[in-house]
Amino acid sequence: MFITRRLPDPAMAILHEHGTVTVWDQIETPIPREALLRGIADVEGLLCLITDRIDAEVIAAAPRLRAVSIMAVGYDNIDRAALAARGITLTNTPDVLTETTADLAWALLLAAARRVVEGHTLIERGAWGPWHPMQMVGQDIYGRVLGVVGAGRIGQAVLRRGRGFGMRLLYHNRRPNPAIATELGAEYRSLNDLLAESDAVVVTAPLTAETRGMFGATQFALMKPTSIFVNVARGPLVREADLVAALRAGRPWAAGLDVFEHEPIGPDHPLLTLPNVVLTPHIGSASVATRVRMATLAAENLVAVLYGRPTPNVVA
Ligand code: NAP
Repeated sequence: MFITRRLPDPAMAILHEHGTVTVWDQIETPIPREALLRGIADVEGLLCLITDRIDAEVIAAAPRLRAVSIMAVGYDNIDRAALAARGITLTNTPDVLTETTADLAWALLLAAARRVVEGHTLIERGAWGPWHPMQMVGQDIYGRVLGVVGAGRIGQAVLRRGRGFGMRLLYHNRRPNPAIATELGAEYRSLNDLLAESDAVVVTAPLTAETRGMFGATQFALMKPTSIFVNVARGPLVREADLVAALRAGRPWAAGLDVFEHEPIGPDHPLLTLPNVVLTPHIGSASVATRVRMATLAAENLVAVLYGRPTPNVVA
């Protein structure tokens, strides 16, 4: 087995119990391409992360490969067709990160709507003047309309939280899901209608050929000038240059973003010239407990496939 980063101890223990393990023994640095290509030459199992591009070249470099386990729910960095052509099984880590990621979406939504980071920076700069009636006014979230694009596991968890905030709930998937209406009371909308009606738009759809660039100038122009846009899915769903222009023009009113077109972004990124954004460095699933659960599940998935045991996390 080849593991592209050192994982928390419980995950490493599972792997060591079940065979010979080679690890790119770093915590913060992704494995260089050459080291990955060399490392997988003779292995049957690969455990990888979202920072590893697992494309046809990598798969061709691993003639014995039978199983790929990603420690993530999204797998847009993996060439599934190349895996399928070789009959290699791919597993991911859904469910265990759902609530943690939904929490982060809400953290960004509330922070962007109520200017939390701007307020912090104002105090830090020593620029907090006397109280005045319209000082640092933001947008309400309680009682407004929440629209989720990609209402799967995480999207539905975002909607569920919206009920506690007395919100009217809308969602957009490729097709309506009656269970979402029954269980959450959320109404189905076309993407355009959802954008026009929502006060808060949260994106939780996967990155696919269909969703790449789904949010651009046309979509932002449909949003209310008071609305908040949150993306915790994947950066390339959004045309970032269009979002910067839209935020500059004030529609949407503000944005909270955990993911970006090219990660990591640096301090010179145009988004950082705007006061009405709150940015986090792709930390949707980053709680201590959830990251340990994800690593453990990724290890269990890999071992299960290699030893012919059932696992529910095979990507169809
Ligand atoms: P999921 O349960 O598969 O939900 C995805 C939803 O998106 C489904 O309901 C699907 O419904 C919908 N969808 C797919 N294609 C669509 C399209 N073209 N237009 C509109 N909706 C579409 O996945 P999940 O577990 O909630 O995770 C969602 C994504 O979140 C992951 O793929 C990952 O990229 C991202 N994520 C990010 C972080 C982070 O750290 N920021 C953490 C975890 C996950 P239909 O099939 O009915 O269209």
